[in-house]
Amino acid sequence: MKVLKFGGTSVGTVESLSHVKKIVESIEGNAVVVVSALGGLTDKLIATAYLAAEGNSEWHSEMDAIISRHMHIIENVISPERKNQVKKDVNDYLDELKRNYEGVELIRSLPSHILDIIVSFGERISSTIVAAMIKNGERHDSLEFIKTEKWFDKNIANRKLTDTLIKEEFKNLMPDEKAIVPGFISRDTETNEITNLGRGGSDYSGALIAAALDAEILEIWTDVDGFMTSDPRIVKDAIVIDHLTFTESMELCTFGAKVIYPPTIYPVFHKNIPIKILNTFNPEAPGTLITDSHHKDDLEVKGVSALKGISLLSFQILKADISEDIYNRALNSLSKNGVSIIPVANPDPYSELNFAVPEKDSIRSIDILAEEFAPEISKGKLGDFERKDKLAAVALVGERMKTKTRLAARIGHSLRRQGINIEAYSPGNSDTTIIFIVHEEKTSETVRSVHSMVYK
Ligand code: ADP
Ligand code: ASP
Ligand code: MG
Repeated sequence: MKVLKFGGTSVGTVESLSHVKKIVESIEGNAVVVVSALGGLTDKLIATAYLAAEGNSEWHSEMDAIISRHMHIIENVISPERKNQVKKDVNDYLDELKRNYEGVELIRSLPSHILDIIVSFGERISSTIVAAMIKNGERHDSLEFIKTEKWFDKNIANRKLTDTLIKEEFKNLMPDEKAIVPGFISRDTETNEITNLGRGGSDYSGALIAAALDAEILEIWTDVDGFMTSDPRIVKDAIVIDHLTFTESMELCTFGAKVIYPPTIYPVFHKNIPIKILNTFNPEAPGTLITDSHHKDDLEVKGVSALKGISLLSFQILKADISEDIYNRALNSLSKNGVSIIPVANPDPYSELNFAVPEKDSIRSIDILAEEFAPEISKGKLGDFERKDKLAAVALVGERMKTKTRLAARIGHSLRRQGINIEAYSPGNSDTTIIFIVHEEKTSETVRSVHSMVYK
């Protein structure tokens, strides 16, 4: 069985929904179809919640616009005999959404669990519409089978329970049934509160379902012809990559390629289920295939992506003999506390150590390190920690990147000549990635420049 996921870009308008209908209805037999909220709606739901929390009455007109957008879609994509029922179901959701905004306005604050309820309406409503639009469409509610648990400040999937519940949910589909599933949303295993898998999380919902059902493929349908050598909004001549490995796609996505939400890759990778990226608006295009091993005519360097919001932490080692121990303890203590680290090259590891972390965790990281190394600091073995914010990691991903030292040197040289300062360099965690850390405002310029050097 196939699992398909249609992003907000594919379910945002009457026209795009007509493509979705055609694509899904042409599948023989069963399929699971995961859908996002209408394009841009999640942002709207959040912005409206903040207006209500500030007591700004403009939230009412935003709410009205949300209602009319959904009603316009229902009017134009649902068959006459089902229209009233769908309108009623969707209006029930919209009424509940409105009550949440009223509550937020009343208490003049926006607790995170209420925001989670508010954003959940996007996918709950879009899946209701799509299920009614598709022949043999049946809605299956992911709030019943995608379960999360807390991990530091995040909700992560409770894989074991989710796996069991998905198998149970989809074991008796009707002949030709197309199971329509709201992406993104979930419930907490312990409290049963509505949660979600993070922004862009519908891809991950698709992957969890594909893995649990041992699907033949996970198809991610979006608004571009495939995974491209760079973000097409930044690099105008980026090209579609025919084929990538799981590892390469994971690296590109971790470093900012928005086309797939990074956690998506793990569950399907472990089951060796291929992913295909396809264009809803151009279904004939071959798209990008992602599998476990290299193909012989693959591009060697697959792509260049960039992640903003990076900080560089460094500290002085005043007693050289402790360098290695300090480095390992620093990495361990940060990862134990849920901080993901980008190791960078340390040109002088006996006197200074550096690594990069997400900027949102940078202050916390320093606190963690100060606690871990309190004894060494008090004995004068370690100097002060330094922090540089507002940086970006530009990643070059492909096969055997460790051997591409000349390419890396040429890029480094050329960037410096253009006046782009390289704050740190990293051969990456694996043999797949080379990273240049630059100032955030130079991100696009660096990406364009690196892309043009690689694909000239
Ligand atoms: P969806 O709504 O389908 O989930 P997203 O906006 O999350 O769509 O992801 C698709 C978008 O990702 C594309 O429109 C494109 O602008 C952007 N993008 C960024 N990097 C890449 C890349 N390397 N290849 C393709 N698309 C990319
Ligand atoms: N609607 C959610 C978002 O905008 C989830 C998704 O689209 O994947 O983040
Ligand atoms: Mg997306």
